[in-house]
Amino acid sequence: MAALNEQPLTVPGTGEFAGTELELLISRAEIDARVTEIADQVSNKYTGLCPIVIGVLNGSFVFMADLVRKLSCDFEVDFIKLASYGPAKKSSGTPRLLKDISTDVAGRDVLIVEDIIDTGLSMAFLKHRIEEVGPRSVTLATLLYKQDFARIDFPIDYIGFNIPDRFVVGYGLDVDQKLRGLDAVYALKEN
Ligand code: 5GP
Ligand code: MG
Repeated sequence: MAALNEQPLTVPGTGEFAGTELELLISRAEIDARVTEIADQVSNKYTGLCPIVIGVLNGSFVFMADLVRKLSCDFEVDFIKLASYGPAKKSSGTPRLLKDISTDVAGRDVLIVEDIIDTGLSMAFLKHRIEEVGPRSVTLATLLYKQDFARIDFPIDYIGFNIPDRFVVGYGLDVDQKLRGLDAVYALKEN
C-alpha cells in the first residue's frame, strides 16, 4: 500500500500505457532469496565445469547479473537477442533473431537465462537454435513463468516464480522500454 501523500507508481512517458498504475508482485527480498537458491543449485550442478551462461536480451540482464554474481562455479557469459514484443503487450508469435551468440558452444555446457516465459515460443526457439550447434548440455532458467498460459513440451530446469497471466515490469522487464531499473517485479493494473 502506498503511504498517505505518496503517489502510486505509474508508467512514465506518453506511450499507450502512460499513467497506468503498478502493483507490487514480487519484492526485492523475495527475488534475492530465490535467486540465491537457484544460484546454489546451478553452482552444484556445474561443480568442476565451466558453463556458458547465455542471457536473452534485453529483459534478462538484471536477473543474469544477480545470478552469476552468486555462482561459485566457473562460467563464461554470452548474450543473444530476440525480437521483443515491440510497443504492444502481446506476443508477436514468431520469434526473430536480432543478435546471435558469439561463442562456439559446440561440446559445451550451456545455461540459457530468460526473464520470463509467456507463451514459451521464445524459449522453444532459443533451445532449438542452441541445440543445433551441438552443445554437451542445454539447461534452461527463467525468473518468471506464466504457468497457466505457457504451452511448452519440454521442462524448464529452473523457475524463479510462477506468476499469473499479468503484464509485469521491473527487474529488467520493460513497458515501452521503460522501468527496467525497478528493483522488484510489478504488474500493470488492469481496468
Ligand atoms: P514468449 O515467447 O514466451 O511468449 O515471450 C517471451 C518474451 O516476451 C519474454 O522474454 C519477454 O521479453 C516478453 N514478455 C512476455 N511476457 C512479458 C511481461 O509480462 N512483461 C514484459 N515486460 N515482457 C514480457
Ligand atoms: Mg526475454
